[in-house]
Amino acid sequence: MPKRIPRDINWLIKKYLDFFRKYGLSETMIREIYEKWLPGTGLITDFIWFIFEYLLTEIAKEKTPLALEFHRLTSDVYNQMAMYLIKEGKRNPNYLLKKFHYHELCYSEIATTNFVVEVEILSRKCCPYCDNINGLKMTIEEAKEKQLLASENCTNARNCTCSYLVKPLRGDDGWALVKG
Ligand SMILES: [Zn+2]
Repeated sequence: MPKRIPRDINWLIKKYLDFFRKYGLSETMIREIYEKWLPGTGLITDFIWFIFEYLLTEIAKEKTPLALEFHRLTSDVYNQMAMYLIKEGKRNPNYLLKKFHYHELCYSEIATTNFVVEVEILSRKCCPYCDNINGLKMTIEEAKEKQLLASENCTNARNCTCSYLVKPLRGDDGWALVKG
C-alpha cells in the first residue's frame, strides 16, 4: 500500500506553490504566514483553507465585481478549492464547483461583450439528473440565474463532472450575432 505523505507545510509548498505564486505569494511569505497562524495547533489542511479564503478576500478588495479579472481569478480559486477536496477525497465539492461555474459564466459574459452568446450544458455520464439536462441551451443570464450544474439535484457521489459550453449564437447565415 502506498505510504500516505504527511500533510505538513513542506507538502503544501510542494503541491501548491505554483498556484499561490500566481497570486504573488512566495514560499517565504507562505512560511511566514504559517508561523504566525495558530502556532503549533493548526492543521495544515485548515491552513490551506485559510490561504484560499485569504486570496478570495484579497481579490474582492482589489477588483470590482464588474471586472473581467475579478471573475477570472475568483473562479480560478474556487476551482482550486474544489480540486483540493476532490484530490484529498474529503467532502463533496459541489458547493464550490457551483461558485466556480457562476464566476466562469460572469467571466464569459464580460469577455464576450459584443457577441450574443448561448450556453449549452455538457454532461458526461455524471448522474441521471445531469444527463437529463445534457445539451440544454439557454442564455447566459438564465444559466447564471438557474445554476443547474453542481446543484443539490446532482447525485454523483463524488462530484458533478458537467460543464457549461459558452459559444456565440449564430444567425441563419452562420455569422455570430453581435449585440445591439
Ligand atoms: Zn450530476
